[in-house]
Order: sequence, then structure tokens, then C-alpha cells
Amino acid sequence: MTTQFKLAAALILSGMIVAGCQRPAEKTEAPAAAATSPTAASADVHPFTIGALHAAALKDGDIVLENVAGQSPWADTAGVAEVLRKTGDPKIHLSVQPLLIRGDNKVVLIDTGAGGAMGTANKLPASLAAAGVQPAQVTDILISHGHGDHLGGLVQNEALAFPNAAIRMSTAEWAAVQANGELATLVPVIAPKVQTFEPGAQITPSITAVALQGHTPGHTGYEIVSGQDRLLYFGDALHSSVISVERPDFVNAWDNDSDAAIATRFALLGRGATQSLRTYGVHFPFPGLGTFRRQADGFVWVPEVAATAP
Ligand SMILES: [Zn+2]
Repeated sequence: MTTQFKLAAALILSGMIVAGCQRPAEKTEAPAAAATSPTAASADVHPFTIGALHAAALKDGDIVLENVAGQSPWADTAGVAEVLRKTGDPKIHLSVQPLLIRGDNKVVLIDTGAGGAMGTANKLPASLAAAGVQPAQVTDILISHGHGDHLGGLVQNEALAFPNAAIRMSTAEWAAVQANGELATLVPVIAPKVQTFEPGAQITPSITAVALQGHTPGHTGYEIVSGQDRLLYFGDALHSSVISVERPDFVNAWDNDSDAAIATRFALLGRGATQSLRTYGVHFPFPGLGTFRRQADGFVWVPEVAATAP
């Protein structure tokens, strides 16, 4: 896919969000959060543990797309309509929620949301504060890939939003970010803090980088292990908890290498279902925690707690 196409997709997202993302989130956030997370300081924070680690899903915003050519990344709009029919909502909903992990004497943030771009609500700063963390306390930022809804929160007012944090991403992804003209103003701001790694690298005592190929040149998931507990952050290997899970074979124009992305989706879903692996979807309904289960010839997403957005 060309850079121009990706830019067009981003612009399409930008236009869409302004039009339609606010109402669903406002409609359901407060009561659901109260029911599922009584210790949360905010409806936009979902605290949980991974062994000895303290984690929290941090809401940044919502992306809502019409299932039509030029807006949806899935070319098969009829197929998507069929998948969405049982949800009772014909629109495509993608939440955005970076993941906070505290432990090992580190404060880790996985991805940083859109920074208010792409029409999202830029909730991350308030969500982080509600979780009890100041930006200067973040020690490590792990980037899954270099798209605006993951890098966007790194910079605010042309300065580092997390001034003391190392910014870690795969070597291949950093090369792609530097080559992307759309990120020309961001690159020099973050460059002094970037530390690259190779696939499979141990990032912290509890977190390992996992290559999940196809979405971008160096797209990376993160596997977090503490004691007997395990969580896989799978980034944009899967975008929608409905479409990507039930039709992993659908071509998605946001994927850089469609064949590789489809193979990654099938492998991820298969491993997840076989191992009952706890997973985290940065774009799945907030808070994005759950497992995959085999159903008929395919897979379904089983959220760990009731979602607070469609
Ligand atoms: Zn994304």
C-alpha cells in the first residue's frame, strides 16, 4: 500500500471521528465501569494485575467508521455487513486504549494513542493521571508500530509528552517511521529517546517483543509474563473484535503485507484459542481484555469483562 493511500485512510478516519464517535462512548461508559471496575478512579481506567505487575487499560478515544468503500479498510463491505449484522450496529467501532504496566521498578506504557489526531478524544493524559501516574514517571514506552494512533501521544506541543521515557520499537519499524514523510516533524523530537530492538528481544524482566508480521514492516506485539500469569498485547494484528476475529481472511487495506497479516491473524487466533491465552486488543472494546475461542469453523472473541463501548 502506498504512503498516499495510508494518508488518505488517516484523513478519512479524521473526518469520520468528528462526525460520529462521541455519542456511543458517552452513552455507556459510567455505568459499565462502575459495574466492572469498582476500584477505578475513572471510567477511562481499568486496573488489573498480571502476576506481581499492576496494569491498567487507559482509554484514549474511539474511531467509528461507516462500512463503505473509502472509509472502511475492508474491501468486502458485503462480507463485513454480514459479520456485523448480529451486533445490531452496522458501523465499525475501534476503541483506542494504550496499556500501562507497573513493576520491575519500571513504569511502562505500550503505545501512546493518537494524541488528539485522527479525531480521537485525546483522553490518555487524563486517563494516565487517573491511574496515578505523571508523564515524567513513565520510564519506558513500547511502540507496536508507527501509525498515528499509536505514536501520536508521544509528542505534545512539539515536545516529548513523556520526557524521561525511553521509546522502544523494533529496528525495522524505526526505519519505516524515519522513511515516512508524514512523520517528518515527529521523528526529530523522539529520535534522541529511541532505542531499537530485534524480534524476540527481552525488553524488561517481564516483557518480551513478539514479531507479528504483516501490518507494518516491524509490527511488534508484547508478551508480559509474571509468575503464572501471561498477557499478549497483539497491537494491530487484529483491529476489530468482530471482523478481524471472525473473518481473519478478509483483506485489510491498512496492512502493509496482506498475505503475511492474514497468516499472522490465523496463527494468533489458533495459539490464543488452544492456550486460552489472555490477550489485549488496543482497538477492541474497552478495556480490551479477553480470550479467543474456537466456534464452528472459526473463532470468536470472549471479553473478560463487559465492554464499556460498542
Ligand atoms: Zn491502530
